[in-house]
Amino acid sequence: MARVPYKVAVIGTGRVGATFAYTMAIVPGIAKMVLVDVVPGLSKGVMEDIKHAAAVFRRSIEVEAYDDVSKVENADAIVITAGKPRKADMSRRDLAKVNAKIIADIGDKLRDRNPGALYMVITNPVDAMAMILADVIGNKGKVIGSGTSLDTFRFRSAVSELLKVPIAAVDGYVVGEHGEEAFVAWSTVTIKGAHIDEYMKTHNIELKHEDIENYVKEVAAAIIAKQGATIWGPAATFQEIVVSFLANEDKVIPVSSIQEIEGVGRVAISVPTLMSGEIRPLPQLLSPEERERLKRAAQAIKNVYETAKEAL
Ligand code: NAD
Repeated sequence: MARVPYKVAVIGTGRVGATFAYTMAIVPGIAKMVLVDVVPGLSKGVMEDIKHAAAVFRRSIEVEAYDDVSKVENADAIVITAGKPRKADMSRRDLAKVNAKIIADIGDKLRDRNPGALYMVITNPVDAMAMILADVIGNKGKVIGSGTSLDTFRFRSAVSELLKVPIAAVDGYVVGEHGEEAFVAWSTVTIKGAHIDEYMKTHNIELKHEDIENYVKEVAAAIIAKQGATIWGPAATFQEIVVSFLANEDKVIPVSSIQEIEGVGRVAISVPTLMSGEIRPLPQLLSPEERERLKRAAQAIKNVYETAKEAL
């Protein structure tokens, strides 16, 4: 398989960061990677291990590893997972202040060394953290948060299982906040090209929208309670976003990007977004009611952002 000829930096090589780096090295076969973690030596260990995996799959890859984020230069894409994770009984919003400082400091060190890079924030609460990073990066790069991309793949997985249809037959998006104010944009949900409600009627399937929505909202905490963190779903999701952007694959994935939301103002929020060398939000794919509901999510994100800013 051809290599994706770009340099991708991963800041924070804990559970999600290291797994994302592995996925990037193996699935698309990225050409160059830079790994950074504040824990001395951790990123070097991850680097060696990933190089061995790449050797098995005959993926040529150059990897650098550092304890200091200032060493990252001329990256095409920078994925930031650095910071504190939540415990099962915590909301993502509880991490706002502690992670805001980490994100702002990292952004400050990367901004002038990586002109024009795509920055994708993973660290929670991800929408507010994308806003904090965007404040620091300004026009020197493009900033997104992973937003409801992961919720969207969780949703599709649940629908596929509950309706007993192949995963490739399920389409549709979860939008809003990555957290309490995430919601399924039901107008976008199709099974084998038919709207989900139509499909369920034709096939005599009775399933409440609410039950699927609750699954999507609660599954992350359930995974954290069982294995300490969500790892594999996030890593694969973030790989899909970065590769679509770098390799101009034109995939539409909901990510969190800075938008003007009527009545709320500037906020990083997820709507279906074309990822292809540019970041083009497509709110027009949502129904008028869904666009209205976005306002509630936008206000919630803005409140978390205001709290996060108090720490800076
Ligand atoms: P983790 O504790 O395993 O890894 C975080 C890593 O960041 C650690 O290795 C830590 O040493 C490192 N780190 C901390 N400060 C740093 C700094 N200033 N510079 C470089 N490295 C630094 O946590 P995890 O389970 O990998 O989760 C990481 C973050 O991602 C958490 O905030 C978690 O909530 C979030 N997350 C988000 C999503 C999403 O969909 N957006 C999904 C999963 C996890």
